Order: sequence, then C-alpha cells, then structure tokens
Amino acid sequence: NLSERLKKVASLLPKEAFFADIGSDHAYLPCYVCLQDHSSQAIAGEVNVGPYESAVKTVKQFNMNDRIEVRLGNGLAVLEKEEVDQLVIAGMGGSLIRSILEDGRDKLDSVKQIIAQPNIDARSVRKWFLDNDYIIENEGILEENGHIYEILSAKRDDTSSPYQDELLERQLLFGPYLMKDRNVVFYKKWRHEYEKLQRVLLQMERAKVKDEVKIKQFTQELKWMEEIIN
Ligand code: SAM
Repeated sequence: NLSERLKKVASLLPKEAFFADIGSDHAYLPCYVCLQDHSSQAIAGEVNVGPYESAVKTVKQFNMNDRIEVRLGNGLAVLEKEEVDQLVIAGMGGSLIRSILEDGRDKLDSVKQIIAQPNIDARSVRKWFLDNDYIIENEGILEENGHIYEILSAKRDDTSSPYQDELLERQLLFGPYLMKDRNVVFYKKWRHEYEKLQRVLLQMERAKVKDEVKIKQFTQELKWMEEIIN
C-alpha cells in the first residue's frame, strides 16, 4: 500500500508516462504507476547498493522487468540523453534535489515535466525551476505520519507563470499555488515554521550574532509568515 505522499506524486504524472524516479529506494512509486497504467514505463535510479537491491527485488516481485529498469548510479548520471519525458525526485532535501538537477542538466533536453517532493527547503527547488525555464504548474501539501510534505510539479511548455514581481520572494518561500488557496496543513506548517524562526532569531540576539544581512532576511521572513498565518 503506497503512501499518500507518493500517491500524490503519481497523480501528477500523465498517462503513458516514460519517467525516471531518481532516488527510488524500494521502487514503490514506479511499480505503483506501472501497475495502474499499463502503458507507462520507468527507470528507477539509486546511488546506494542497499536501496538499489530493494528496488530490483520489488520490480521482480511485481513482474515489471519489461517496463521498469533499475540502474545504479548518482543522480541523473544513470540516464542517457533524451531518454525520459518526466522526472521524479522525491523524499530528499530541497538542496540535494537542486544539485541533482543542476549536475544533470545535460540530461534534461527531453524532460517535459519534473515532479519534486522536497522534505525540506522547497524554496531551493522552486528557485531552480525559475532559473531553468521550468514553470511550476501544480503544488500540493499534505500531512502523513506526523510529517508535512510539499509536492511540486513544473513543466517546460507554454504553461503561464504564476509569479508576480512584487510577490516573488514570498511565492518562492510559500509556494505560489499553496499560498493562494491555503489549506489546514499549510497553516499548520507555517505556524510551526514561524515559531521555529522566532526562536532562532531570539537565540541569535542572545548570542549577539552580528550578521546583519541574515538577521534582516530572517526578520523579513518572520513578518511574511506572520502575515500569512493570520
Ligand atoms: N524516493 C523515495 C520516496 O520518496 O519514498 C525514497 C526516498 S529515500 C528517503 C531517498 C533515497 O535517495 C535513498 O534511497 C538514497 O539512497 C537515494 N539518493 C540519495 N542521493 C541520491 C543521488 N544523488 N542519486 C540517486 N539516489 C540518491
């Protein structure tokens, strides 16, 4: 039984997807997608041998060897040029997702859609999309087993950009779609982040930290969070 988090990721893929799932671990996502849609195909990439072997095992268990190929390697290095149409990178920190995308840029020519599920720091991923002509077209936020997850999908076609100049920094932080129709989980997340940042600022003050740039940035972000949760 697949987690709600990965079900949400799966729901954002098109029919007849040909996608790579980088950092696939057990390959649960590609197996789920390919069981649901008999014309989907996938490549599951893993950098670590343990998870790679788990992925091989799951794919075999579901009898999916002809449609899911498991490959061992770092990030997008497991892909040939122009091999897949969609890319999924889920369950890692935003900065790791960003560096996997950045290091693998030469593999992205054919990639029309990227779905990312950063465990923290979704802002880094949004920023990478913005700087690399992927237009964010869908976002989700959900809570499962006491964790809050954000899921982002970006496309490289003529989707129109949700960003507005005067709101850009806030949209990158909160998510352009998530901040527009704020749900219960969104409020919960940002109330929590607000309290966390408040504590950080207090500690910086007590420790007499002199980093004016950082203090100014955090103070600004704290204000934005206060505005959005009230
Ligand atoms: N994607 C699955 C999910 O969302 O449930 C698994 C997430 S798991 C927490 C992260 C996986 O990414 C681990 O199995 C780890 O070995 C793999 N990983 C980390 N860095 C990677 C990289 N640079 N390239 C490929 N896989 C990587």
